[in-house]
Amino acid sequence: MQLLLMGPPGAGKGTQAAELVKKFNIPHISTGDMFRAAVKEGTELGKKAKAVMDAGGLVPDEITIGIVKERLAKNDCKKGFILDGFPRTVEQADALKKILDGLGMNLTRVLNIHVPSEDLVERATGRRICKNCGATYHIKFNPTNKDGVCDNCGGELYQRKDDNESTMKNRLSNYEQSTKPLIDYYKNANLYTEIDGRQPIEKVTNDLVNVLS
Ligand code: ADP
Ligand code: ADP
Ligand code: ZN
Repeated sequence: MQLLLMGPPGAGKGTQAAELVKKFNIPHISTGDMFRAAVKEGTELGKKAKAVMDAGGLVPDEITIGIVKERLAKNDCKKGFILDGFPRTVEQADALKKILDGLGMNLTRVLNIHVPSEDLVERATGRRICKNCGATYHIKFNPTNKDGVCDNCGGELYQRKDDNESTMKNRLSNYEQSTKPLIDYYKNANLYTEIDGRQPIEKVTNDLVNVLS
């Protein structure tokens, strides 16, 4: 199964991807996670991505397409994958088509988690992530049992530097301008399904799984 999870920043893509990984046992490929890992390691890629990400901009297409091409060619993607946060531009979507053609694959379905923009700032600013295992929480909507401590592994939680109100403004406007056109793009390709992302996390997961089975 070759899945694409779409949705604005804070819609719940990462949260749902983690559930789909458990269910379908295919790798989760998040360009945001890949960029954050590169920033942490201080690689050339990380140096290029850091300033753009901190400002809530989009990393240039040629860089982003390159890392996805490399990742999809790895062996573990042969059984399928869940792409999260890529593509974010029509150019990236065209490139993805070419990459998959080259690998003899195609997309099974594009799932768009729809959440209205007025909810997204609260989702992002309340997001907390485990330093150790990467699990995602929310201070109000999905809190840990103990403040600041991961339920899974006991790791310490942190807040992403770009999860603030002013960066979210840029991210949301980039979404409107560059990413939203992909809705029609994938409707035209007969791959598009929209899921109501305003429901509780478990309900959203249920809807996604129902579409796929
Ligand atoms: P994305 O990967 O789309 O940016 P995340 O999965 O990181 O989004 O979710 C953003 C924030 O919203 C996180 O703090 C997460 O715990 C919370 N969240 C995810 N899904 C829901 C939901 N259905 N209802 C309320 N909060 C949610
Ligand atoms: P969110 O789902 O909350 O927007 P991500 O973790 O997907 O966050 O992305 C974080 C940041 O990484 C983005 O704001 C952007 O700067 C960069 N990024 C991630 N994916 C892409 C992409 N496909 N194209 C360009 N930039 C990207
Ligand atoms: Zn953890």
